[in-house]
Amino acid sequence: MSNRTFTMIKPDATSKGYTGAILDQIIKAGFSVKAMKWIKLSEEQAGLFYDIHRERPFFGELVDFMSSGPIVAAILEKENAVADFRELIGATNPANAAEGTIRKRFAASIGENAVHGSDSDENAVIEGDFFFSKLERF
Ligand code: ATP
Ligand code: MG
Repeated sequence: MSNRTFTMIKPDATSKGYTGAILDQIIKAGFSVKAMKWIKLSEEQAGLFYDIHRERPFFGELVDFMSSGPIVAAILEKENAVADFRELIGATNPANAAEGTIRKRFAASIGENAVHGSDSDENAVIEGDFFFSKLERF
C-alpha cells in the first residue's frame, strides 16, 4: 500500500473561492502536501488526463469543464492515502456524498464536483507524474 495520492481542486471550486477552505480541510484531515501548483489545463491536456473516460457520454462536458479555469494540482501524503482521501472527498455525485465530505460541502453537481482524488495507488503515481517533475516534489 502506498502512502501518496494525487488531487486536483477543480475549476468550479477555484472560481467560487473555495480553494483555501478545501486545502484547510485536507490538511486538518492529516494529509501533508508533497507537491502543489496552480495551473490551467488546455482542452488537450484535460482530455489526456481523463483519457480513460474518452468513450463516456460526458467526456466532452468533462474536458470543457476541466479546461474552463485554473485548478490546484497536488500530491498528498498520509498513511492509506488513496482510500482515506476518497472517503474525505465523498461520492462522485455530491447529492450522494456523506455529510461533512468535501463534495457535500463544496460541490454543485456530478459534473462540477469540486475535487479529484486518485482511485488507486497506480493511478496516483501516473497522475502525479502527469503534473510534477522530480524537482517539484519533496
Ligand atoms: P474523479 O476521478 O474526478 O476523482 P470520480 O473518481 O469520483 O471523480 P469518475 O467516475 O472517475 O469519478 O469520473 C470522473 C469525473 O467525470 C467526475 O469527477 C465528474 O467530474 C465527471 N463525471 C462522472 N460522471 C459524470 C456524469 N454522469 N455526468 C457528468 N460528469 C460526470
Ligand atoms: Mg476517478
